[in-house]
Amino acid sequence: MSTLVLDGLRVAKEIHQQTKERALRLREQGIVPCLATVLVGNDPASHTYVRMKGKACERYGLDSIRIHMPEETTTEQLVEKIKELNSDPKIHGILLQHPVPSHIDERQAFEAIGLDKDVDGVTSHGYGEVSMGFGEFPSCTPAGIIAILDYYQIPIEGKHAVVIGRSPILGKPVSQLLLNRNATVTVCHSRTVDLPHHVSQADIIVAAVGKPRFVKGDWVKEGAVIIDAGYNEGNVGDVDYESCFPKAAAITPVPGGPGPVTIAYLLKHTVDAAEKQARQIRE
Ligand code: NAP
Repeated sequence: MSTLVLDGLRVAKEIHQQTKERALRLREQGIVPCLATVLVGNDPASHTYVRMKGKACERYGLDSIRIHMPEETTTEQLVEKIKELNSDPKIHGILLQHPVPSHIDERQAFEAIGLDKDVDGVTSHGYGEVSMGFGEFPSCTPAGIIAILDYYQIPIEGKHAVVIGRSPILGKPVSQLLLNRNATVTVCHSRTVDLPHHVSQADIIVAAVGKPRFVKGDWVKEGAVIIDAGYNEGNVGDVDYESCFPKAAAITPVPGGPGPVTIAYLLKHTVDAAEKQARQIRE
C-alpha cells in the first residue's frame, strides 16, 4: 500500500489564489481588507507567527496592522485595545496571538473580539455558531484540516474520527466540524484511559496534543488517514511520522500540513469579513 502525502502548501495555494482575487475586487471598490494582529509579550515563536501572518497579508493583497503590547499589559488594557479595534471600520479581522502571558485572562480577552471580526473563531459565540453548523468563521486550523480532507476527496461521512486534544482553538472545534460532516467522533484528552486503543479504532486521526512525536505507528490502524496538527520545537509534529507513515493511507507532513492552510484561512476569513462589512454599509 502506498501512502499519500497530503500537501498543505498545495491546498493553501489554491485558497490564497481565490483570496487574492477577491481582495483585488474589494480594493477596486475602495475597501482594503485588513487584519489586525495583537501580540502581547516577547515570546519569540509568537513573534515569528505574527510576522508570517503579516507577510502573507502583504503577498495576497490584504493590509495588516501589528499591535505589540508589553509583557506587563493587564487584561483590562488588552480588552480596551481589542474594543478599539472592534470600532475601527478599517479593520476587518482581529487575531489575538495565543498564548498571552499567564497573568492575563485569555478567555476574557478573546471574548472581547466582536463576532463580525472574530476571524479565528475564538469567541464562545463564534464557536457556538460553528458547532451549531451555521457559523461563518470556524477556527482556522480546524477549517484548514477539513479543507485538506476535502481537497484530497477523503470521505468524512460515516467515518470514525479520533481527535486527540480538546483545546478551544483546535481539538473541540475540529471535533464539531467533523461531527457536522457526519463523522462519528471520539475526542481524547489527557484523562483518556487507554488512548492507543481509541486511536486504533480510527479511520481518521487528528493529532492536536502539543507533544512531539506522540502518536505511534503501532497505535494506528492499517489504512488510516492521519492529520498532524501539531507543531513543536525542531519542526516536529505530534505524530511519529516515521512509524506512522507505513501504516497510513494518507498523512500530513510537518511542516507543510495544516500550518500553511491555517494562514490561508485566516486571510480568507478576513476577506469574507471585509465583504460582509462592505455589504452591510451598502444596505
Ligand atoms: P493545548 O491547548 O495545549 O491542548 C492540548 C490538548 O492535548 C489538551 O486537550 C490536552 O488534554 C491534550 N493532551 C495533553 N497530553 C495528552 C495526553 N498525554 N494524552 C491525550 N491527550 C493529551 O494545545 P493546542 O493549542 O490545541 O495545540 C495542539 C498542537 O497543535 C500543538 O502542537 C500546537 O503547536 C499545534 N497548533 C498548530 C497550529 C497550526 O497552525 N498548525 C495552530 C494551533 C496549534 P487536556 O484538555 O485534558 O489537558
